[in-house]
Amino acid sequence: MFRGDRDNDTICAVSTPHGVGGISVIRISGPKTLSIVKKICAFLPEHPESHKSYFGLLKDVETGLEIDEVLAAYFQHGRSFTGEEVIEISCHGSPVICQSILTQLVGLGARPADRGEFTYRAFMNGKMDLVQAESVLSLIEAQSQQAAKLALRQLKGSVSKKLEDIENDMTWILAHAEAGIDFSTEDIRVVDQTVTLQKLAVIEKSLQELVATFRVGRILKDGFRIVLTGLPNVGKSSLLNVFLEDERAIVTDIPGTTRDVIHGDTSFKGVKFTFLDTAGLRESVSDLVEKIGIQKSKEATGESDFVFFVYDSEKGLSQEEIKILNGLDPQRTYILANKIDRISSVLSPKTVLKDLDNSEFLQKIGDLEGFLKRRVFFVSALDKKIRSQVLEELVAEFADLQLENTVLISNSRHLENLTRALENTRRTEALVKQGLGEEFIALELKEALIAIHETLGKRFDDQIMDRVFKEFCIGK
Ligand code: GDP
Repeated sequence: MFRGDRDNDTICAVSTPHGVGGISVIRISGPKTLSIVKKICAFLPEHPESHKSYFGLLKDVETGLEIDEVLAAYFQHGRSFTGEEVIEISCHGSPVICQSILTQLVGLGARPADRGEFTYRAFMNGKMDLVQAESVLSLIEAQSQQAAKLALRQLKGSVSKKLEDIENDMTWILAHAEAGIDFSTEDIRVVDQTVTLQKLAVIEKSLQELVATFRVGRILKDGFRIVLTGLPNVGKSSLLNVFLEDERAIVTDIPGTTRDVIHGDTSFKGVKFTFLDTAGLRESVSDLVEKIGIQKSKEATGESDFVFFVYDSEKGLSQEEIKILNGLDPQRTYILANKIDRISSVLSPKTVLKDLDNSEFLQKIGDLEGFLKRRVFFVSALDKKIRSQVLEELVAEFADLQLENTVLISNSRHLENLTRALENTRRTEALVKQGLGEEFIALELKEALIAIHETLGKRFDDQIMDRVFKEFCIGK
């Protein structure tokens, strides 16, 4: 996608969303920016001031006809987002005007930018590392306040700083191990084994902590994925509608009508929630369509952060339902006893407990009191208030997280690399403990360092670049 020989081109693209808006911004970046733009924006001075906007008429270079009244902001080389000379033209937000201006720019020698190429250039010019480039995308795409907050912290370098500390420690050990190789014939120990082990333990701990933050980081970035599951007709679709605050799922009283996975997003207290309603989990079905639906629902349950297991409180838990519950992880399960409007007696979590008597599910719950208090809800799809009651509890699960101070990773590329680095670090520790030679230690630790370098983009190839920048769209 990106080739070094094109990196000196001057590129242009509309950086605001496509469609009609009040204004649109066209970004031009590269060595010929000013000389190209001056030909259509004659009002620009010979030496514009950086970070200053100039107002005037943008004209067709050949006919001299006016295209639009624009504001051109100038950023000198080294002081822009990309690190190159940049001009941002704010024009009136008509796609026709944008297209005319782009045609002028391309006619004058600029090239239409590839997806993410502005951010790519910022990275190539050392304005940011790869982790920060990725957080630019997360920030643009943030769909909740929490996600935006997290992306901004990552853009400001929270993850990068932590990775650089790890990198420094690794480099230190590596340098000493390599020095040790040179002296190996003279039986000189360049560095004490205990010191190496201490440093490795610090690295291991940092990596372990970062890897462990992925789940929370991902939830903050993408929101909670919640699957509603349970037997047909217990009220999953009705509850989904309550959570999504609209009529999304079709509600009928013929068992098994929710055949496909229906999903929808909603936001509560700045956190995004994606709900998936699946086909009723029934083992014995003859209908093929429903079978496919059930397969999908099993897949969706596996990918979710939490499962909302719904049952009909009027009927109580059936053996079939207990079987389904036994297959779920209590750490990720909420039990929603639905249709409480149909029963006159007051239910308590103990009622559920009695139904679950001796079940595998019950045995797997660690903190039973806590589970009953926070994970069991008596609800009715007829009562809209249950939405905030239940979602409040989920948000609370993450409230004690010191968002301001914790460094969180939220990107699967980082998770993969850091997991690799962690494994290599552990293997290095084992080698040191076995008293193996410095060359083995250096070899293993180098792999860990490569994983860190790849995360930060200090080492990269086309594959890595493609993976990161293919997510972007044009103009970013
Ligand atoms: P699903 O198959 O689990 O998705 O169940 P539905 O949402 O389609 O609901 C099945 C039937 O139960 C429908 O007739 C709903 O109107 C009804 N229903 C769902 N939730 C409640 C509830 O809380 N109270 C009452 N009274 N009826 C409900």
